[in-house]
Amino acid sequence: MMSKNKGVLIVISGPSGAGKGTICKKLIEKNKNIYLSVSATTRSPREGEIDGVNYYFLTKEEFERKVKENGFIEYAEVHGNFYGTPRVNVNKMLEEGKDVILEIDIQGALQVKENFKEGVFIFILPPSMEELKRRIIKRGSETEESLMTRFKNAYKEINYVSKYNYAVVNDTLELAVSKVEAIIAAEKCRVDRIKDNTILESKEGLIHEQLYD
Ligand code: ADP
Ligand code: 5GP
Repeated sequence: MMSKNKGVLIVISGPSGAGKGTICKKLIEKNKNIYLSVSATTRSPREGEIDGVNYYFLTKEEFERKVKENGFIEYAEVHGNFYGTPRVNVNKMLEEGKDVILEIDIQGALQVKENFKEGVFIFILPPSMEELKRRIIKRGSETEESLMTRFKNAYKEINYVSKYNYAVVNDTLELAVSKVEAIIAAEKCRVDRIKDNTILESKEGLIHEQLYD
């Protein structure tokens, strides 16, 4: 029996409005093997957001209880609200060979980096700061105050791109999505991710033998 390779853990960060959510949505629509982790948050739902689909919307007390129970892989305060990645599911999905995407902020990503050395860290950049502002305004989800917080934070956040493995500029959506897909595809080919038995037991094992005998 061929045992499966573990899934790839992909962490996606970038300033608010860069297009992380839009890119992730496209990725999961196109790739059935990708699981997008649903985070918990103490922020209020935006119009159209559904509890358990976009986020698990928790009260501050519920969130704190989950922190005490060690229920999050990582958590952080972002733009004045708490956000966390529930521990359940992520490990299970990876073991089953599914690729798991965490769309989380930089503080959270740095925590994940400590515990999941084999994670792939992708930073999404806007084509320009003017375009970033236009996109946050276009989304129409923020109050004037929240818009300014997010925009000011963006300047600081962009400095952290060097902590990531890959930077993808989201100029044309389709191009950005295909770049992320290419990164995932390349990561799956890395020899240190492939179990020896999957190489040897597959038909392509013949090629492996030709290469190494
Ligand atoms: P984030 O999740 O990074 O905060 P969103 O995915 O919510 O950002 O995108 C912010 C806004 O920008 C949305 O209105 C979205 O439709 C738009 N958007 C995303 N990607 C692009 C793109 N490549 N070109 C133009 N608009 C985009
Ligand atoms: P939004 O309120 O726009 O949905 O998200 C705000 C920020 O919180 C984004 O930068 C997003 O990546 C981040 N975020 C969403 N979920 C999590 C999470 O589980 N953990 C952390 N650390 N950040 C998160």
